[in-house]
Amino acid sequence: MVNTLSSTPATHLSAKLPRSLKRLAYLAYNYWWSWVADQVSLFETINPDVWERCGHNPVALLESVSYERLTQLSIDPLYVKRVNLLADEFDRYMAAQNTWASRVAPQISKQRPVAYFCAEFGLHESLPVYSGGLGILAGDHLKSASDLGVPMVGVGLLYRQGYFRQRLNRSGWQEDYYINNPFEQMPLELIRNEQGEPLVIEIQVRQRLVKVQIWRVQVGRVSLYLLDTDRQDNDPIDRWLTGHLYGGNQETRIAQEVVLGIGGVRALQALGIEPGLYHLNEGHAAFCLLEVARLDIQRTGKSFYDIEKSVRDRCVFTTHTPVPAGHDVFSADLMDSFFAQYWPQLGLSREQFLALGARRLGDPWEPFGMTVLALRLCRTANGVSELHGQVSRQMWNVLYPEKSVDTVPIGYVTNGVHASTWTASLIGDLYSEYLDQDWFNNVADPKLWEKVDQIPDDELWWRHLVLKERLVAHARFKIRQARQNRGESLDLIEAVDRMLDPNTLTIGFARRFSPYKRGDLLLRDANRALKIFGDLNRPVQIIFAGKAHPADEEGKRIIQRIVEWCKQPALQNRVALIEDYDTYTARKLVQGVDIWLNNPRRPLEASGTSGQKVCFNGGINCSVLDGWWCEGYQADANGKGLNGWAIGEDANTSNQELQDKIDSESLYQLLEAEIVPLYYDQDANGVSHRWVKMMKTSIKTNVPAFNTHRMIADYVTRIYAPGTKMDVGQSLAKVPF
Ligand SMILES: *Cc1c(COP(=O)(O)O)cnc(C)c1O
Repeated sequence: MVNTLSSTPATHLSAKLPRSLKRLAYLAYNYWWSWVADQVSLFETINPDVWERCGHNPVALLESVSYERLTQLSIDPLYVKRVNLLADEFDRYMAAQNTWASRVAPQISKQRPVAYFCAEFGLHESLPVYSGGLGILAGDHLKSASDLGVPMVGVGLLYRQGYFRQRLNRSGWQEDYYINNPFEQMPLELIRNEQGEPLVIEIQVRQRLVKVQIWRVQVGRVSLYLLDTDRQDNDPIDRWLTGHLYGGNQETRIAQEVVLGIGGVRALQALGIEPGLYHLNEGHAAFCLLEVARLDIQRTGKSFYDIEKSVRDRCVFTTHTPVPAGHDVFSADLMDSFFAQYWPQLGLSREQFLALGARRLGDPWEPFGMTVLALRLCRTANGVSELHGQVSRQMWNVLYPEKSVDTVPIGYVTNGVHASTWTASLIGDLYSEYLDQDWFNNVADPKLWEKVDQIPDDELWWRHLVLKERLVAHARFKIRQARQNRGESLDLIEAVDRMLDPNTLTIGFARRFSPYKRGDLLLRDANRALKIFGDLNRPVQIIFAGKAHPADEEGKRIIQRIVEWCKQPALQNRVALIEDYDTYTARKLVQGVDIWLNNPRRPLEASGTSGQKVCFNGGINCSVLDGWWCEGYQADANGKGLNGWAIGEDANTSNQELQDKIDSESLYQLLEAEIVPLYYDQDANGVSHRWVKMMKTSIKTNVPAFNTHRMIADYVTRIYAPGTKMDVGQSLAKVPF
């Protein structure tokens, strides 16, 4: 049984606050604050320096700020009024009964919620247990599920040191380091039993029993449960099982996936939560299927093959990886050492068990594939964009030899982003004024976005300019800090103040530095790039950010090449690289750039979401026709882009060198002939009306489709609804909110 006493960390914190500010504690312990525009400044005003030092973590802020300051605020009637207004809004949000999901999907009940499993969750920079796109998507999924009232719980791992942190040394080489997450000072609650002891579940990892404790993070109405093995009563090796996200070797990986999948199901059981549906977001969590089956077998006494269908009816799977090598597989040896005592509990022989994860049955050299397991034991499977759906059907046709590629039962739901997390409030205010006060809850309605044309050009342009100024300020701040940390010369540190200019056409490129993303494609013809970026009359600047996986030497070389490139005198104020990419830098970038550049090798970008974030803020995409952009991009009859630009042709060639040449040529051509002239075609007030027209088209055409409210509606109506099968080629859901 779980402790239901009222003593939570939030009540604890609230006891330390002056009376009129006590409600701040409850706001601090629910990430709802992070996507309500005014909330951010409510915390930040308390003490901007401490706020910065605490990594924008409101719990740590309230714990560390001086009592004098709190007292001062507690007698400031304006501040107290703001606290109360927001706390009232929060109470209303949490208590709302008449939600979208209660009307459209009443069959998903609070008693039988959807359990959403993922190896990483990216909710906010103050909870650094994410690495990139997958985690951000999972975070946005929970936020929209909360907004729409979909009964859901999240399940993941709480990593003591999260993902690695990045700094560059003087020769531009990435150095990796780790920081401990101080769980006790974070907006987390350790779940306790009736005796007040941490609630613990046990799982077997190789020959040892490992104790796992459970933390809760509140994401609006959704609870996210994160599992943690860092307990004193565990073997020192096991304490580090949840130490690092995507760290270690195959053995660490399988052990973590056992904790996530099997531990996750046991944790929900210990919490008294009985999911009506399990959603596996990527294959990492697929062991959960085995545990769901084991519990059914234990309860009913039936055989594995008798309960298989009932497991499948309750489980759905989303795949994210368009290359075979990206899917987790484990050798039979590794499976033996982790599961030899487990498969008898399923009533299976070793061969029967290993067959669940084998692509081709009867091949003794087939490793155990997590995606294969998920495809075998889930009712539906989907990719994350239309193109990725196609690629996945091809890739997994091998599992369905009797089917043609087109009928392989893998569909797609195109990813989106959570509108109010990623939209700058300066722009959101415009939408409130010209579209609808409640634009955010109606974000998926295309009619609403037609009204964007009513926003005066100057108004949109100058607000965008302010956001660009903030981006420049952020870039300078981070680069100054990095140069100071490297012990660079005073000259170099002061030179930061001359870097970047808000009036210059600004390109953003931020993502993992994986070779397929071609972070250095722009540098392919260094002279041509120098002409474009160094132009005196019509200058162009670019801001890079992103990490290379610690084991990815080629990715690190790409970063180094960029650092070398920016050292040229003509470029040193026009090219910037921000270290240690996180959601804060991401927000600044997607809110402030003119152009978002994305040039992966097709079709390796399953969806991508950062370009979608840009659209909400009036930025324009210039991207290879891959992932979501295949669906987003619109051109006129002459092939000229209406809502952005398409790099290269949409044909694939297997000759990488040739593809790089075609795509980089196309990119230079677009910049020289279209993008730069359009941007600098400005009137006497410095406004480019043709540019603003394109900004507006980008907003109108992309925003209603590529948001997580639409995405959740798709999942709820096409996938979560009981009995749904996977339609392989269905278009976007048209569900009114
Ligand atoms: C949105 C986001 C991503 C995902 O971007 P892609 O378009 O998938 O490359 C990665 N990291 C952070 C911090 C983000 O905010």
